Amino acid sequence: MAFLDELCSKLGEKWVLRGEDILPYLRDLKGPKGPALAVACPASSAQVADVLALCHAHDVCVIPQGGNTNVCRMAVPEQAPPSIVLSLKRMNRVSEVDAACYTLTAEAGCLLQVAQEAAADVNRCFAPDWGARGSATIGGAIATNGGGLNVIRYGTTRDQVLGLEVVLPDGRIWDGLRALRKDNSGYDLKQLFIGSEGTLGIVTKAVFKLHPAQPISQSAMAVPTRMSGLMELLELARDIGGDRLTAFELMSGLLIDKALERYPDLRHPMQTRARYYLLVRFSDQSSVSDRLTQLMEKAIDRGLIQDAVIAQSSLQERNLWELREQMIPHQYFTHPSFKWDVSVPISRMSEFIAQIETLSDALTTHAALCISGHVGDGNIHLDMFPELPPGPEYQTLGETLLPKVDQLIWSMGGSIVAEHGVGSEFVDRMRAQKPPVEYAMMQSVKSLLDPKGIMNPGKLLHAD
Ligand SMILES: Cc1cc2nc3c(=O)[nH]c(=O)nc-3n(C[C@H](O)[C@H](O)[C@H](O)COP(=O)(O)OP(=O)(O)OC[C@H]3O[C@@H](n4cnc5c(N)ncnc54)[C@H](O)[C@@H]3O)c2cc1C
Repeated sequence: MAFLDELCSKLGEKWVLRGEDILPYLRDLKGPKGPALAVACPASSAQVADVLALCHAHDVCVIPQGGNTNVCRMAVPEQAPPSIVLSLKRMNRVSEVDAACYTLTAEAGCLLQVAQEAAADVNRCFAPDWGARGSATIGGAIATNGGGLNVIRYGTTRDQVLGLEVVLPDGRIWDGLRALRKDNSGYDLKQLFIGSEGTLGIVTKAVFKLHPAQPISQSAMAVPTRMSGLMELLELARDIGGDRLTAFELMSGLLIDKALERYPDLRHPMQTRARYYLLVRFSDQSSVSDRLTQLMEKAIDRGLIQDAVIAQSSLQERNLWELREQMIPHQYFTHPSFKWDVSVPISRMSEFIAQIETLSDALTTHAALCISGHVGDGNIHLDMFPELPPGPEYQTLGETLLPKVDQLIWSMGGSIVAEHGVGSEFVDRMRAQKPPVEYAMMQSVKSLLDPKGIMNPGKLLHAD
């Protein structure tokens, strides 16, 4: 029987999409990508196993896809090999919320927001959270080790996962769906799949840790007097807030102006206009107002900030966070950009930003430089939009700029792929960041689990 007929017999005609129906699955935020034979939409782990066994037998590649909200071209096929996209969208249920044990179990296609709401219903907090919460899935969060807004308090997705069920490339199901807080019985294999970008297998279910709900949150927006004071300000926020510090974000003045132009319901919360702003949030089970006020007062006394507002209502709080979530450069600039998702030690963050500004001024004229991100985690998103059309001049600039900035990041002990992952976009540049022994170990893991190389080829790493 031909491959597609067999696929239909396993899933039913209706759940093997073809023709025009597959086009939305072949493009992402960056536009269209390579072709696919079909999009398979299994409804259970057993069906995922059937699909993978079939693909393994026919040497058909498999591109796992959750919400397709990644920003590094990870969940769409490349040009070369015959591929199918495997969409997890039908496996979208929360299976269990155990309030007493502080765990939540869900299928991989469950949306972050659905998991958050299920946890909130029993007065618990599901920690992974970012702007794409309404379309990103927990499988995608696991496969990218998503970071987001709560990392400073709870860590990344990796820190939240207790157990996984995974379908391996040959169709075997690994049941590691355990909710144990302690298990030292050997290699912690689930860690291999977290951050693996769909290159080792398909996550079908996961058990997450939950945390006590923090129903009261209050945020302040502040203008730093000098970026070199960021570290001191973060230390002060930690001293005063302790575990209540749930966000310490950097916002670009340029992107705030663009967001205000585009979304007339948004308001600039302060008179002062600046290149950078900070958004600090405290959360707890009772009021955090006194501590937040204390932080802002002390920061002004020490000359760390020159202006600040504290949200006084849920409307003002929402406005601050809506501004934060609209820090999406590609919404406002249509010409091509050079981008980095950088982490450097927090102590070197201001030095890094200063060097980037200097480099950008020296190499480009009229480049829009957008810098924002989770600065409390040492992570910033950096986009540089030179006023150049795509063409030879743009290309030459890229050839100079990219290695210079990558080198700068590495010289500071940082990473050029902090939270958004590698995908096909950073696959070449990431290799230079890894010691050869580390890269070889990654290749060995890949060839051990996926010897035919059918899982998400062209993403994350090169086979040789
Ligand atoms: C507005 C916006 C804000 C964002 N903010 C953040 C942020 O703050 N922090 C952050 O980390 N990311 C952020 N992202 C990026 C994105 O939301 C995350 O990468 C997210 O984890 C992707 O989830 P997804 O379900 O969309 O996965 P997809 O984009 O569909 O897939 C991502 C990768 O995971 C693989 N994959 C998906 N599901 C599975 C599965 N079940 N098993 C195995 N592999 C799988 C895919 O093959 C692909 O390699 C943001 C994106 C947007 C659009």
